[in-house]
Amino acid sequence: MSNTILEAGVVTGDNYKILLEACKDGGYALPAVNVVGTDSINAVMEAAAKNKSDIIIQLSNGGGQFYAGAGMPDSFEAKVLGTVSAAQHVHLLAKHYGICVVLHTDHANKELIPWVEALITHSERHFECTGVPLYSSHMLDLSADDIDFNLSESARLLKRMAPLGMSLEIELGVTGGEEDGVGSDDDIGADNPLLYTQPEDCLRAYEELSPIGHFTLAASFGNVHGVYKPGNVKLRPEILKASQELVQKTHNTGVNPLDLVFHGGSGSDKAKIEESLLYGVFKMNIDTDTQFAFAKAVGEYVENNSKAFKHQIDPDDGTPYKKLYDPRKFLRAGELSVVARLDEACRDLGSTGKSLALKKSEELAA
Ligand SMILES: [Zn+2]
Repeated sequence: MSNTILEAGVVTGDNYKILLEACKDGGYALPAVNVVGTDSINAVMEAAAKNKSDIIIQLSNGGGQFYAGAGMPDSFEAKVLGTVSAAQHVHLLAKHYGICVVLHTDHANKELIPWVEALITHSERHFECTGVPLYSSHMLDLSADDIDFNLSESARLLKRMAPLGMSLEIELGVTGGEEDGVGSDDDIGADNPLLYTQPEDCLRAYEELSPIGHFTLAASFGNVHGVYKPGNVKLRPEILKASQELVQKTHNTGVNPLDLVFHGGSGSDKAKIEESLLYGVFKMNIDTDTQFAFAKAVGEYVENNSKAFKHQIDPDDGTPYKKLYDPRKFLRAGELSVVARLDEACRDLGSTGKSLALKKSEELAA
């Protein structure tokens, strides 16, 4: 697989599977970054290009709504159209950054199934015109419901998505904490058994979903959303290993048959991140740490140029501050700080220099 080559831009269908297999074979994972607008999307693509890493760009329903504009009156329509608009932005620009981008949506609980269904409808229309879906994959997080409902709904949506070359991410067990209103902080605690997925459930998901289409699995191994004080979180990546081995043994597959996703990557112990890569994790979500990176840099900019945020012209000496309060100045400070945080994420996940689109340009140059 080492000479596998992909075109730069959004990857879907078989190309997505090639990318994911390259991650698992190479023992690395891709950062999956939550975005809320062009500033964060462009910073993520810039970081991917800079690090020669492929990347996953994802939107929560709230991120999609914000992309459409917080002032749009119909919040359901805003959630759908904003998420579509963000994808169109990425389809237009990603190839010019020279890296592969997976387009994905984050947690959708039971109430948000209509949001995912509306997005699939947009992908169907996009597929009719272009031969590819708008999104590479969606997540359906029915981990708060019983597993029968979780898997039957997942199967129902995957039947619509598979013919378009789309993949479905599901969640078994509970990721602690909350991500954009989905989940809660109540379940955090090192001893909560809900935070650890059962291998038997992973096997059942494999048996019910893989005949229908491609799915990926957010399995819980003590991971939580957000950053909490040390001791509240106990990561146990060996849970992932047990699930992989059960599927492998039962169905006589190769190693690591499940394509695993690591939620709540922000603030996680680097050694545990590295260990999870051994067990078939190809995607690690990061949101809290990139949010903080953006905010911290903007905060510093405002602090260092505080007069320009109070006066257009200096009240004492008449200096004009237009160049300092230009929004591009502080938004750019935020973007650069996100890029720096993603340099670190690419290093932690081993994706630096591994872009499959890079191999193409290198081959052309040779
Ligand atoms: Zn998550």
